[in-house]
Amino acid sequence: MRLADKVTLITGSGSGIGKSSALLFAREGATVVVNDLNAEQGQATVDEIVSSGGKAAFYQADVTNPEQVKAMVDRIVADFGRIDVLFNNAGISGVGRLHEVEPEAWDRVMTVNIRGVFLPSKYVLPHMMERMSGSIINMSSCIAEIGLAKRASYSATKGAVLALTKSMQVDYAPYNIRVNALLPGTILTPFVEDYLRKSYDDQEAAYASLKTRQLSGDLGRPEDVAQAALFLASDESKFMMGSPLYIDGGVVFG
Ligand code: NAD
Repeated sequence: MRLADKVTLITGSGSGIGKSSALLFAREGATVVVNDLNAEQGQATVDEIVSSGGKAAFYQADVTNPEQVKAMVDRIVADFGRIDVLFNNAGISGVGRLHEVEPEAWDRVMTVNIRGVFLPSKYVLPHMMERMSGSIINMSSCIAEIGLAKRASYSATKGAVLALTKSMQVDYAPYNIRVNALLPGTILTPFVEDYLRKSYDDQEAAYASLKTRQLSGDLGRPEDVAQAALFLASDESKFMMGSPLYIDGGVVFG
């Protein structure tokens, strides 16, 4: 068991990559705190874990709301005694070229994707610092490193998350806290289906072009990213600090 006795908090784990990571972390012995805005989906993740013998609990909170995030973190520490792993996974898509993006839509993507990493980290870090131990995983994207069409606001947020990861690592290394980033390529989740629906008329052609962009010739699956998250969460990655980890089918370096 690679996460035996670890208490892990995964934001946005009612769907996609977060859900897949929650299921995998639980199979590896972790107690998984499933967080999501969507209570039905979050509870469904917990039910799936518990019905297969794992340990999980659902805590609803909007990662952009300081009161809700602080209350969630306080409750987790009261209920489970500590948080060993924080996976800042929750995020939303933002589509369009820069001049097409409405200011409100821009702000929403910035708020969920950047503030949504800031707030859980802000409230979890003091607990990790006190225990001189912890692993934080921030969800960036390969888009932080390569230009992709019609993703102006989204790419800005994922670049920011990568820069923030490095800055956090420098500040919290003295407390034995590791902070690393995941940079997935295109992973088949509801998030990508939504982006394709909003951006392209011909869905089949859009999928085909996405597939050819990746050296793998296919899109990734949530499980592919979950395996990388598991590695960063576990002590097996103890010499990784402030690192970007690519799970992208070769899209960045291909
Ligand atoms: P998804 O839409 O399947 O899941 C995201 C989850 O986050 C949803 O359950 C949603 O309810 C939750 N969420 C959204 N806003 C929230 C908020 N304010 N508070 C709490 N929960 C909230 O998406 P996914 O594809 O699994 O994406 C997960 C992360 O991976 C995102 O940060 C995304 O940017 C990133 N990512 C995805 C891909 C991809 O191709 N799917 C590639 C690179 C990075």
